[in-house]
Amino acid sequence: SFVSKQNFLRQNAFVILAVAAVFAGVILGSALRSWSICPRHVQSLSFPGEMLMRMLQMLVLPLIVSSLITGISSLDNNVGRMGVQALIYYMLTTIIAVFTGITLVIALQPGKRGRTSQVLSGGGFNESLPTTDAFLDLIRNMFPSNIVEACFKQYKTSYESRNGTLVPTPSSSSGVNALGLVVFSTAFGFVLGRMREQGRPLRNFFDCLNEAIMRLVGIVIWYTPVGILFLIAGKICEMEDLGLMGSRLLWFTLCVILGLLIHSLLALPLLYFLVTWKNPYLFMAGLLQALVTALGTSSSSASLPVTFHCLEENNGVDKRVTRFMLPVGATVNMDGTALYEAVAAIFIAQIADMELTFAKVITISITATAASIGAAGIPQAGLVTMMIVLTSVGLPTEHISLIIAVDWLLDRLRTMTNVLGDSLGVGIVEHLSRQELQSHDSTDAGHSDAE
Ligand code: ASP
Repeated sequence: SFVSKQNFLRQNAFVILAVAAVFAGVILGSALRSWSICPRHVQSLSFPGEMLMRMLQMLVLPLIVSSLITGISSLDNNVGRMGVQALIYYMLTTIIAVFTGITLVIALQPGKRGRTSQVLSGGGFNESLPTTDAFLDLIRNMFPSNIVEACFKQYKTSYESRNGTLVPTPSSSSGVNALGLVVFSTAFGFVLGRMREQGRPLRNFFDCLNEAIMRLVGIVIWYTPVGILFLIAGKICEMEDLGLMGSRLLWFTLCVILGLLIHSLLALPLLYFLVTWKNPYLFMAGLLQALVTALGTSSSSASLPVTFHCLEENNGVDKRVTRFMLPVGATVNMDGTALYEAVAAIFIAQIADMELTFAKVITISITATAASIGAAGIPQAGLVTMMIVLTSVGLPTEHISLIIAVDWLLDRLRTMTNVLGDSLGVGIVEHLSRQELQSHDSTDAGHSDAE
């Protein structure tokens, strides 16, 4: 039994270390906080965590491009079918998440609890963003005019105030345009797959690039526990005192957390079970490291390398499916964010004493879904796309300041749900396409025999 215990420890070393890092981070952060040596030293305390963020982000760009191109070009005829399955899964789970959130926030009425919350920190967002412009920007970002620019810039309409009215002025803001890269790489991979022999050199090139990046991921994995520990400790040091949170904000936070729990621990696993007849919680156990990375970095895009590693190494998912689905999922499928946007918008409407008609609830669900697709997988992106949801029902965007105080926490939690949703989707689509993947394998073998 000693040997088996040793084996267990060796196999699960990373998972154990990653989970231990969260606890260690909380303890370290709380200890330093109680000695109140924080403010000045917070930056140096989170420095090792910042390094983790930077290493992961460094890998993300080549990872997205190479994995999508190799994934899609190697699937050739099956890609359409699997793509449709993936999109149905994304839509379905996002709608379930929004519905869960809306039901909870209407039932619990967090915006009507207690007196005005004390944390009415003003300022922040004054610019209002017309909904149609936001939708157009989403589509514009799908077709970047310059693929190199898409690696570091996103398109975003901004506004100029002229004689008291806001006039749109096209401009660019910084940030990786992951959506544009995903669209380009998908199309590119598709064409490359059809080019047969002629496409082989480039297919080999991207295959090799992908393999090399994944090996680098295998090295960075060793550093994740350290990074996560310091990311969490640093955050705990600098957070505002939770005791000052008004009762409304507290209820709002609980409402979001409850919704995320229901979605992550009941709805998604149930869906996985119904499709595959396999134990979803075993599958989820293999993902722990990715989930902890999401908690530490609050970015599904930064967690992407670790998610790849978990699905391929721990859960043995077919690489063709992870390569093709994960980059898309991390960019467009955000169940946690959709749930959060819907709850937050209705919470704000409750505080503003706005009457919630059925039409408004429907508008909020649609825009919350769109906002979650448009949100980049970076920290607090959901807070910015909130503006689309609020303006769509005529709520002033500066009300976002009502919830900024707790966003650092809810952001981390919803990112975990986002990553979980992407990963379970990969499991489901792999299961549905098992037959095609196998028959594809055998025709491939036939090809190489003939060569
Ligand atoms: N931080 C989230 C993510 O990366 C996006 C959000 O702000 O909701 O998935």
